[in-house]
Amino acid sequence: MSEHPDILIIGGGVIGLSCAYYLAREGVRVTVVDRGDFGREASWAGAGILPPGNPARATDVVGRFLALGSSLHETLALDLRDRTGIENGYIRSGGVEVLRDEGYGFPEVRREGITCRLFDAEALHDIEPALAPTVRTGCYLPDMAQVRNPWHLKALIAACAGLGVRLCPSCPVDNWIMRGDKVDGVGTGEGDRHADEYLLASGAWTDGMLEPLGIRLDVRPVRGQIALLNTGAPLLRRIVLEGKRYIVPRQDGRVLVGSTEEDAGFDHRTTAKAIAELLQFAVRLVPALAGATVERTWAGLRPGSPDELPFLGRVPGWENVSVAAGHFRAGIQLSPITGMLMKELLLGQTLTVPLDRFGVTRMANRERERPV
Ligand SMILES: Cc1cc2nc3c(=O)[nH]c(=O)nc-3n(C[C@H](O)[C@H](O)[C@H](O)COP(=O)(O)OP(=O)(O)OC[C@H]3O[C@@H](n4cnc5c(N)ncnc54)[C@H](O)[C@@H]3O)c2cc1C
Repeated sequence: MSEHPDILIIGGGVIGLSCAYYLAREGVRVTVVDRGDFGREASWAGAGILPPGNPARATDVVGRFLALGSSLHETLALDLRDRTGIENGYIRSGGVEVLRDEGYGFPEVRREGITCRLFDAEALHDIEPALAPTVRTGCYLPDMAQVRNPWHLKALIAACAGLGVRLCPSCPVDNWIMRGDKVDGVGTGEGDRHADEYLLASGAWTDGMLEPLGIRLDVRPVRGQIALLNTGAPLLRRIVLEGKRYIVPRQDGRVLVGSTEEDAGFDHRTTAKAIAELLQFAVRLVPALAGATVERTWAGLRPGSPDELPFLGRVPGWENVSVAAGHFRAGIQLSPITGMLMKELLLGQTLTVPLDRFGVTRMANRERERPV
């Protein structure tokens, strides 16, 4: 008999795959099922921005969690490359946060031990000459990084396969098979599947999956639209952010412009209004982008949670069900620390970050009556 339980992960986005990766590295037998292809939902759609973080100087649990999310990426990128030969596009490109009011957001970043320099217009244009002259003040964050989401997912999938993870695409979980306070299996399009432990990593679809277990987390889809531009040759080197919008330059001359936050249910479509606003925003900050070609537009459904933090932990009332979902705008950033923590939780190891702050019961009165 195996020393570890075998685990079935429902959802093969960046969260489910990262959990599988960290578990499989410890010799756990893992199966991941996804309704469609792996990593084709929010995880593919995201921009891959990794805000800087300094775990040693974080002032609270959430800060440490966020900082570890970012800082683990560098090692992970190397590990994935060593295992698979696939580059995930991790680069510490740096970022410029455009400030409308001088000093906005600055004291907090400084307190968390993150390098952040307040630049005036001249200094900003020295490092990013394509920025509009109307950009007067910005916070330069040299340690902001990025990954190319599709490449990162490709590397994760290959690494999981190499570690013996069983990957089952086109395998939707339709129902739970329950016995007492345990789940005994799940019904899928390809028949029933059984495991010792079940981990739900089904992104924006998590509440629908939890309903039969009598739990509601209020994880909901938050649509984000993106326009992909191509300037032929790189125009910018650093990520440029203003409020919730951003311009992410890739090294090949492509530029992502994002994003919106919309309550549109499970509708993945883009809209003329949102894309027009994104393009206007991009050209206002970087006028030369007016000449770029629009290569593609898309939308993804972020798994939003009521307090914008993910739910990580055991599902109350069920002996062998856990959840890792609701990562909202930071699921790529937080995927390695989520994978590591869920591995620690499921294997009974010391937790790198305590999970109470992310627990399933943190929202008062969220638990509905258990079904009979
Ligand atoms: C436009 C946009 C920009 C973003 N930018 C960034 C960024 O710059 N940095 C950052 O850190 N994060 C960013 N994010 C957020 C990040 O992409 C998400 O938080 C993250 O991808 C969530 O991953 P996930 O695995 O939980 O969800 P998903 O990637 O959505 O994966 C969930 C999976 O579960 C599967 N599934 C659902 N139901 C079932 C079922 N019944 N049976 C089987 N499988 C099922 C789905 O098919 C899907 O593949 C962005 C998101 C968007 C949309």
